Amino acid sequence: MKRISKEEKLKEKKIYKENEAHHNDLIKLEKEHSKEEKIADPNYIISLRNINKIYDNHVQAVYDFNLDIKKNEFIVFVGPSGCGKSTTLRMIAGLEDITYGDLFMYQKYANNLLPKDRKIGMVFQSYALYPHMTVFENMAFALSVKHVKKDIIEKRVLEAAKILEIEEYLDRKPNQLSGGQCQRVALGRAIVADCDVLLMDEPLSNLDAKLRVTMRSEIVKLHEAMDKTTIYVTHDQTEAMTMANRIVVMSKGYVQQIGTPEEIFNHPSNVFVATFVGSPSMNIINVKLKDNKLILDENISPIIMEKDFTTKVNNYYLREIERLNNILEEYKNILLLREKERRFKKIIDVEGKIRIDRLTKYIKKEMSEEILSNLNISKQNLIEKYVKEEHSKDIIFDLDKVLKEYLYLKEKQENNIKIVDILSNIEKLQNMKNSEEKQLILGIRPENILLNDDTTNHLFTSKIELAELLGSEYFIHFKLASKEFIAKVNAKKKMNSNEEIKFNFDKEKMHIFDSILEKGIY
Ligand code: ADP
Repeated sequence: MKRISKEEKLKEKKIYKENEAHHNDLIKLEKEHSKEEKIADPNYIISLRNINKIYDNHVQAVYDFNLDIKKNEFIVFVGPSGCGKSTTLRMIAGLEDITYGDLFMYQKYANNLLPKDRKIGMVFQSYALYPHMTVFENMAFALSVKHVKKDIIEKRVLEAAKILEIEEYLDRKPNQLSGGQCQRVALGRAIVADCDVLLMDEPLSNLDAKLRVTMRSEIVKLHEAMDKTTIYVTHDQTEAMTMANRIVVMSKGYVQQIGTPEEIFNHPSNVFVATFVGSPSMNIINVKLKDNKLILDENISPIIMEKDFTTKVNNYYLREIERLNNILEEYKNILLLREKERRFKKIIDVEGKIRIDRLTKYIKKEMSEEILSNLNISKQNLIEKYVKEEHSKDIIFDLDKVLKEYLYLKEKQENNIKIVDILSNIEKLQNMKNSEEKQLILGIRPENILLNDDTTNHLFTSKIELAELLGSEYFIHFKLASKEFIAKVNAKKKMNSNEEIKFNFDKEKMHIFDSILEKGIY
């Protein structure tokens, strides 16, 4: 077992404390926020606005999830295991509480809507069929508990069974069916129920590869034939690319990108999305940008970029620095709110007037001289300037500003992990912007590496390490600037290991990412 050092333990404890404080903040904020007027956008059947989920153990599974879904869309949530896909789906289903944020369904605020009133049908990986009921009974169940007339139930079940081609199994029990057939029954059950939205959580994961491919297209056809909206969860990027109208790529609880399969593939917003989608994965290499040229290695001729490329990169740094500064500002507001909730509240009486005696005590007791001197104000001055003034409105306004900065400096001094990380990134971005030589990441998909027989017009030369023949194409493995690369090329000509190849990058198809935040620069 790995031994955890004292420092690591302390750090873990600190993270836990910060998570706990953040969790409590969000619960408090949601309490206030839930009272505000909720206005749904009539263009969407489902809207998720700043949805956050923190479980009781303070683990945050979903951060600020925003998505508007149109009627009849096929949406796929995709990402590695543990990234928050199921949690989000379960919040839409009403099986999991929303910690913070607004869910709208059918143009109504739906955070507190009971699952049975959400007009949803669910399909799970585990099928979740009742083993003692026949296929017919399983499919009819939701309607029979609602006391729908027998002939209507029969009509609907038979219709669904026909679409799914399971008519001949209606009298069988689930244990007499194969995995694929069980999943069809589960789909049938969801279709038969009176639902407008189908939620599917990894429905094909238990099936073998061949059946998965067949069922994939069947589900898409089914979706197109029905007047329903589908949200589908999977960890499989091929499923996402082949099935979705729009894909939501997630990682570690954050939405990484939302877009059509084409957008996600052609303009990935960061290195994660770029390498997650596509097979074989996009080739990634660290490069330097100097004099508007990309340098892969000293021994390789540099890639000359378009005229305004360096300006584009510098503008990217400026935008990101501004974005991070805004995040810090928001964080300062939260700190102020937290303080007001905890201690500062007592200073203002029910009529909104400041209790001068308590404010004086607060400043004397709570505020450290050292940090106040950073703000260019002494305790004495603060008391004199703000406390002795009569106009409480001005006092509150000014004091808010001082208090906000004070709390921020205090948090920073206490080594708040979030602040430290953001500040360090701002500094790195600033330095990179000012530097003559910028570190970037170049990405190129295997199919965008072009073999080039014309000796005068090639960028690189390398030796084939392995040539894998996959019928009509080769996967060529080679090294470039000591990095492993894969090229996908047409198998018109025989290719052999150890053979020298000359090749080029399709410059139009290159992707450039910043090396600090790993975001795409477009
Ligand atoms: P995915 O569906 O993408 O695999 P999940 O939504 O199931 O991811 O989980 C997201 C994160 O939330 C994971 O870190 C997981 O461990 C955590 N999690 C899920 N369910 C619970 C729970 N009931 N209590 C605490 N943590 C949970």
